[in-house]
Amino acid sequence: MGENKDCVKIIPLGGFDKIGMNMTLIETKDNIIVIDCGTSFPPNNMPGIATSIPDVTYLKDNINKLKGIVLTHGHEDHIGALPYIIGDLKVPIYGTPLTIELVEDKFREFGITGVKTKAIKLGNTIVVGDFKIEFIRTNHSIPDSAMLAIYTHEGIIVHTGDFKIDMAPIIGDTVDLARLSALGTKGVLAVLSDSTNAMRKGISKSEQEVHDQLDTFFHIYKENRLIIVTFASNMDRVQQIIKLGEKYDRKVALEGSTMLEVFSAARKIGYLNFSEDTLVDVRDIDKYDDDQIIFLTTGNHGEPVQCIAGIASGNNDRMRIKKNDVVLFSSIAIHGNEVDFNKTLNSLEEQGAVVEFQDIHATGHACAGELKLLYTLLKPKFVIPAHGEYRYRREAKRIAASIGIPSENILLIQNGDIVELSSEECKVNGHISLNDILIDGFEKKEINLKVMEERKRLSQSGVIILEICIDKKTGRYASDLRITSRGFSEQQANSEKIQKLKAVVLNKLSSFVSQGVKDERVSKGICRVAEDYIRQKYNKEPIVVALITEVML
Ligand SMILES: [Zn+2]
Ligand SMILES: [Zn+2]
Repeated sequence: MGENKDCVKIIPLGGFDKIGMNMTLIETKDNIIVIDCGTSFPPNNMPGIATSIPDVTYLKDNINKLKGIVLTHGHEDHIGALPYIIGDLKVPIYGTPLTIELVEDKFREFGITGVKTKAIKLGNTIVVGDFKIEFIRTNHSIPDSAMLAIYTHEGIIVHTGDFKIDMAPIIGDTVDLARLSALGTKGVLAVLSDSTNAMRKGISKSEQEVHDQLDTFFHIYKENRLIIVTFASNMDRVQQIIKLGEKYDRKVALEGSTMLEVFSAARKIGYLNFSEDTLVDVRDIDKYDDDQIIFLTTGNHGEPVQCIAGIASGNNDRMRIKKNDVVLFSSIAIHGNEVDFNKTLNSLEEQGAVVEFQDIHATGHACAGELKLLYTLLKPKFVIPAHGEYRYRREAKRIAASIGIPSENILLIQNGDIVELSSEECKVNGHISLNDILIDGFEKKEINLKVMEERKRLSQSGVIILEICIDKKTGRYASDLRITSRGFSEQQANSEKIQKLKAVVLNKLSSFVSQGVKDERVSKGICRVAEDYIRQKYNKEPIVVALITEVML
């Protein structure tokens, strides 16, 4: 199969094999645009790793074609990787006002300047390279989320971003269904659609229904102090909680750094409304009676859970659980850390708190019924289910097929696949290989795999440090060899084996002296014999470090 130069290419650099790290390119002969640029969630088995980002080598290699980055919304899995890649790419970034506000906050935090950003209102259309891109209003768990209609010479591609169809949202309006239907009439060539909830039947709950539930909750617990845990970016929810606070004469204290970021961004552009004096400083909560205060704690991904875990274990200076406190988990999903989470719940209840869950299944993503409606309105020729692991995308494929889209027109693709799209055809033709790029949680920088390997070894097998002074002139040792270990049991560390290790290392040193070897070969050599010895005797592979000090005698 030859390459078709006139077709439009769609290449996902992330977002298709696992959740997170969303990034997809759309490419024509001389132009590339990027849709979203997110991080993924931290892998469990990699110590110190905060997140991973897409491999953008292909973009660097084609930098002259790259015209801009277009964002669907402000969640981390869509904008989080920007600070790490923008230095190499330096192209303008387009998104809705809240999304751009969040990106700019991020750049400020990383000290990045000189990147052109442009806030686009929902409903508007921009031109980037030879693409026209229309921002269509949609609903999701953060305000200002957009679907994109991308006009290419082969036809219209709709990228849904993350979406659901909420008939009664709290902030903003319902998805622009009229626009979707108009596009369907015009003719949509291909849709890339959010598959996150394809496995869930029916339609997702509206924020208005959630509101009614919350109201009941406030009513039942009118006497108690309320601690509410939710996601920072879910401004609909935050707005509702503050409004209900006002209704029930309660002040609200906000906790959580991400919370405050998204909150102030949303407030700055006028998406939140409540009276100024409803908010109080978290340091002042003790000044209020139980029925006068709400402690609202939030964060991204795992953060809200960590935060409440800190409170449960008494590690939060501002909030101590007392008898009859009510802790509400509002739409918090627990992924992968159920054991710790249960510990938190037990501890809260032991201290006398009442724990309640609201709507663990509330979601920002379209369920099966909404996907069906989307495909019906858009009537696309081709469908590429996106944003989800294989099983979710496969289910989205089934849904698209159920409304009559031929199954051969629905593509299940992988990260790195090159999809060639023309008005007649949509097929995978080629693949670019992608590397895992990990970001260190502390330094907030890219980390290479060798360092990762060392960290794994450190966590699994510990470290051994060999310290010795050597006579600069003769190379003979001028002090005792000191062996320090970390990550070994005390018994192991003091055992005869360590004494033997000493002998083995000193032996090696002597042989270097007799051969006249002096430079870094000495430290490498003694590390190697030490590693071999420990592997044999302990069946461990610690990191061995030699600290050799040269002295003049
Ligand atoms: Zn999202
Ligand atoms: Zn997402």
